Amino acid sequence: MTTPAEARVDLGAIRHNVALLKERAGGAQLMGAVKADAYGHGLLPTSEAVLGAGASRLGTAFIQEALYLRAGGVSAPILAWLITPGEPIAEALAADVELSASHPALLDEIAAAARATGRAAKLHLEADTGMSRGGAPQAAWPDLLAKALELKAEGAIEIVGIWSHFACADIPGHPSVARQLETYETALKLAEQAGAAGSEVIRHISNSAAVVTLPEARFDMVRTGIAMYGLSPVPELGDFGLRPAMTLVARVGLVKRVVEGSGVSYGHLYTTSCETTLALVPLGYADGVLRHATGRAEVLAGGRRRLVAGRVCMDQFMIDMGDDPISAGDEVVLFGPGDGGEPTAQEWADTLGTITHEIVTRIGARVPRIYHQ
Ligand SMILES: *Cc1c(COP(=O)(O)O)cnc(C)c1O
Repeated sequence: MTTPAEARVDLGAIRHNVALLKERAGGAQLMGAVKADAYGHGLLPTSEAVLGAGASRLGTAFIQEALYLRAGGVSAPILAWLITPGEPIAEALAADVELSASHPALLDEIAAAARATGRAAKLHLEADTGMSRGGAPQAAWPDLLAKALELKAEGAIEIVGIWSHFACADIPGHPSVARQLETYETALKLAEQAGAAGSEVIRHISNSAAVVTLPEARFDMVRTGIAMYGLSPVPELGDFGLRPAMTLVARVGLVKRVVEGSGVSYGHLYTTSCETTLALVPLGYADGVLRHATGRAEVLAGGRRRLVAGRVCMDQFMIDMGDDPISAGDEVVLFGPGDGGEPTAQEWADTLGTITHEIVTRIGARVPRIYHQ
């Protein structure tokens, strides 16, 4: 390790998780959700591992992420599902990126780009089945279908998929789940009746949580994110045999003895209770170690768990080693699979009142990702 810190990514774990999820998905295709730099794991190497392990497609939020994959040589189908007006749609079509549309105005914009480039846009129509985020709400669904069929007849678009997204699939038994599934089935039926959902159209609604809790919601494809990275989509139900792929490690930058009563870091929120050894860990909130971890989160250092002592700074935080030995250059593990006694990303998430998605996606750009097979 030649940098202050690194995120080690176990591609073998990602492949194991994808294979396990494919099995769970029965015969359905698997789309790997690789938005946000593959949840912080690194877009290209992770995407290649995901495709190599049996995913047939990739999903990103933004067009730019999909274009980055294409520039990196990825040829598998890619869907970008969050499109805002004025984005480089023609460029996306030229790169064979599939797009999602929730509104007739966006269909018009996409169709204009298709006419200009002479390439039919491959579209996934999104139904809002109860999350009230993306997607056309029930009342607007027939108009979206009508517009799509008009543009399809003209040759400007192809309808590749009809999809939706669950709001509460990670809360087993939540009443909205069954309602969303029913609403999705209604949206599909309307699409079939209108002639917009032939047998070639891919139906997809499940995220990771739905894959492990709702086999009836698989349809033709599932879209998995967090579980591919080895983090449980429903932590209270266990780990489902998934293996965490990321280990976040830093090298101690400085070790020193300080006297009893030493105030540590900004605000002196921690004061040493006796003469002790402090170690400086070179990762801070700019790297995704949330300031909120101050005095709460633990790391593994010198074979034992240590609390973050005092304020997390932009680039660093301190730990109190007591009289235990540690040297500058020694490794400190913030989180990993937990095999060596280190905390897991799940523990960090629980401690900080968030979800593992946020813990891993926040690891900053200056932390190099190092890949292991
Ligand atoms: C992020 C995302 C997913 C994957 O969600 P996970 O909970 O990480 O499996 C699937 N579909 C859409 C639309 C998403 O935004």
